[in-house]
Amino acid sequence: MAHKDSIPKNAISKIKQLRKKEISPERLVDGILKGDKTLLAKAITLLESSNPKHFEKANTVVEQCLAHPSNSIRVGITGVPGVGKSSFIEVLGKTLTGLGKKVAVLAVDPTSTLSKGSILGDKTRMQALSKDSNAFIRPSPSGETLGGVARKTRESIVLCEAAGFDIILVETVGVGQSETLVHSMVDFFLLLKLSGAGDELQGIKRGIMEMADAIAINKADGHNIEKAKLAEVEFSRALHLYPPKENGWTPKVLRCSAMENVGIGEIWEMIREYTALVQENGHFKVNRQTQNKNWFLQTLDEQLHQLFHQREDFQSKKEEMLQAIELNKVSPFYAAKSLIQELVQELK
Ligand code: GDP
Repeated sequence: MAHKDSIPKNAISKIKQLRKKEISPERLVDGILKGDKTLLAKAITLLESSNPKHFEKANTVVEQCLAHPSNSIRVGITGVPGVGKSSFIEVLGKTLTGLGKKVAVLAVDPTSTLSKGSILGDKTRMQALSKDSNAFIRPSPSGETLGGVARKTRESIVLCEAAGFDIILVETVGVGQSETLVHSMVDFFLLLKLSGAGDELQGIKRGIMEMADAIAINKADGHNIEKAKLAEVEFSRALHLYPPKENGWTPKVLRCSAMENVGIGEIWEMIREYTALVQENGHFKVNRQTQNKNWFLQTLDEQLHQLFHQREDFQSKKEEMLQAIELNKVSPFYAAKSLIQELVQELK
């Protein structure tokens, strides 16, 4: 085999160029609709790109994919690091592909934004599922803001659905607002918990319990079984304190062991029971509509923000105003208003 050094440099750069050669949105959409996982992954890379050149192209792909309706079920899965999310998703995912479903696993990991290493991305995760031809696993996109990560994940959901994935699992660690964001893009929200020594309810962020459609107490195996039963009672009691959900669903508490594959099938049955109920009473559709409206509002905010920030003169004008504020020449309110007015004038 030729040593790398013996290959002429210009040939190497040509190969690199060819590799980088961009694929047209039409080819991407065509591939996605045929269920081609490589092109699906490439399209997701495109929509994750921060290069403004890719923005239009990515939008075209998303819009065309949106035109292909899907009967998917989107499930959010959250829990602290170590609770067993990847082990659980691996077993649930394999159960689902065993039932003939196509499963996509996406992640929303705010730590990929905050620090170099991400909590969800560092490990070799879900090895069996990643080899399954009916599964597609994608790590969390990175981004400057959690809102940016959420947008990219929402768009990825659309692409996966167009590619025929009928179960979308969106995983998140409970950091910052990530649970609220994932909750705003799924049909069912599952909280994974561990049983502790009677302190189960401590350390749960306010609001997370309220968002959960079910709590699964994982690692209910070996010496942990009794503790898990106690935790189940305690969580069930706590859930009863919340007002009933408008959609008619009563959140459930279950036990499972991802390690021993116990209780996972039951959790899927419960999710099916939930979707049957909310599809029947119309809340499934209402929830998706509400989510779409919020998606629009967030996108609008984001794009307005970008509209100004991507202008070359925005930064310098902002600096000028900051100096003027420091010198007490203008009030902060006046500074913001006049800067916006100036930029809007220029847009006309
Ligand atoms: P994640 O950080 O939430 O994704 O958690 P992981 O899936 O990486 O699991 C963390 C650790 O818990 C690993 O060592 C797993 O083997 C272990 N684990 C996961 N699920 C179970 C379970 O059901 N029972 C037991 N005993 N251990 C488990």
